[in-house]
Amino acid sequence: MTQYRRPIVLMYHGTPDAQPESHYSIHAGLFAKHLRYLQQEGWTTVLFKDLQDVDALPEKSVVITFDDGYEDNYHGAFLPLMSHGMKATWFIATDCIGGHAHWLGKPSTQTQMLNSEHLLEMHVAGMEIASHTCSHPDLSVLSLDQQQLELTKAKAVLEELLSTQVSSLAYPFGRFNADSVTVAEQTGYSMACTTRPGWFDSEPNPYMVRRIAIFSGDSVSTLARKLNFADNDVSWKKMTRYYADRVWDKLIHSF
Ligand SMILES: [Zn+2]
Repeated sequence: MTQYRRPIVLMYHGTPDAQPESHYSIHAGLFAKHLRYLQQEGWTTVLFKDLQDVDALPEKSVVITFDDGYEDNYHGAFLPLMSHGMKATWFIATDCIGGHAHWLGKPSTQTQMLNSEHLLEMHVAGMEIASHTCSHPDLSVLSLDQQQLELTKAKAVLEELLSTQVSSLAYPFGRFNADSVTVAEQTGYSMACTTRPGWFDSEPNPYMVRRIAIFSGDSVSTLARKLNFADNDVSWKKMTRYYADRVWDKLIHSF
């Protein structure tokens, strides 16, 4: 019997060709292994916006997302995705296009962001370029008006650059409040994603989509467990407890 596999959304950040400076970035060589694994296991990559029509998706659908839009994604992720015939969604903070990720502190090659030409090329190639606000703020501490400005302007900037409609949003730092959800809908987004882990269909609100975070040390076998459990913590300790609980459940229910 084949197990029904729900869509799952993965969150990546930088893909440097050097030791990652951030826990959230992974080496380009390791990312290439992730792609090979997904392809070997029969996963289909779909765009985040494709989740709006989830029933039309193949059973093993995965959404690869990149937050922020680091320049090293061009060689480390975009080109490898293209050579595998796969696609992904990038969430871009529009004030930082061609600049640096200012919230990471001192600029380095790993905080350098993709520029407009990169984004246009990636969009034309079939990637989704979506909104991560303008200035990458913590939305949960902004007023409703400020949130409105961040979401409206970022959408307009990307739509102007790409000559297409932008319908997806990711909240910076995964931080948002009730206003953010309201504003995202009011300003014309169709869906928004958080950094809360879980399956896509475990969250009914389209403005609170769950994602699984990928960290710098995540081997292919860690990725495999994350795809199975839709959780960020897939340490062997937790997995052992999970299986022990299942065995315990079976014992209890057999009496
Ligand atoms: Zn971000």
